[in-house]
Amino acid sequence: MLEIIPVPAFKDNYIWLLHQHGHAVVVDPGDAQPVLETLSALGLQLNAILVTHHHMDHIGGVEELIHATPARAFAPEKEQYPFPHQPVVAGDRLDFAEPALSLSVLEVPGHTLGHVAYCGSGMLFCGDTLFGAGCGRLFEGTPEQMYTSLQQLTELPADTKVYCAHEYTEHNLEFALSLEPGHVALLARQQATSALRAKGLPSLPSSLALELATNPFLRCHEPGVIAASGSATPDPVNVFTAIREMRNHF
Ligand code: ZN
Ligand code: FE
Repeated sequence: MLEIIPVPAFKDNYIWLLHQHGHAVVVDPGDAQPVLETLSALGLQLNAILVTHHHMDHIGGVEELIHATPARAFAPEKEQYPFPHQPVVAGDRLDFAEPALSLSVLEVPGHTLGHVAYCGSGMLFCGDTLFGAGCGRLFEGTPEQMYTSLQQLTELPADTKVYCAHEYTEHNLEFALSLEPGHVALLARQQATSALRAKGLPSLPSSLALELATNPFLRCHEPGVIAASGSATPDPVNVFTAIREMRNHF
């Protein structure tokens, strides 16, 4: 049985750690220390490191982990990295024996231009592209690129579990409710999220179905979101552009 646990780092990052039979894979280790502590506490050997994009809070621990463990790193071909790694592009399939895991690479530009996501076995590791009820900031890409990337993710099976790299869900839900006040699925999610956070538990993973029902950045075609966006046209890219900009100042 594959187990997936969040290793908290910094203020609100999650380094997802997957393990089975004593072998582990991590996604976006921004800090080596908490990963090394978890590996030693659980008696795990780290075999692979998956990187979604080049920001320091996602790669800061890679170099140290490569030296301290047998792990190989995988990172987007379209970005520069200071550590040895196998570059990945859209359509690549990564097959690991231990833990037994097969993941496909999706290119999801927007937050950064080379950003990738890893998906397979009902899981999606989406870095800073899709968040609980939100999406990443547009540091390098255009709104159109990010919109297209998010649409690509919506084509995955609805029961896909969504493992985001940050705990931003509560604040994102406040923003979502400002656009769609009274939306029943949103209110239910807010209640469930607050209950988890009050106990110190992660709001993640979510599911694609839940994001489709509550994430305004996947709901740019909904009349309520269109109206709240103030967009002059109902074109979903224009609506997305408007609400992403609103979220920057929320
Ligand atoms: Zn980032
Ligand atoms: Fe980040």
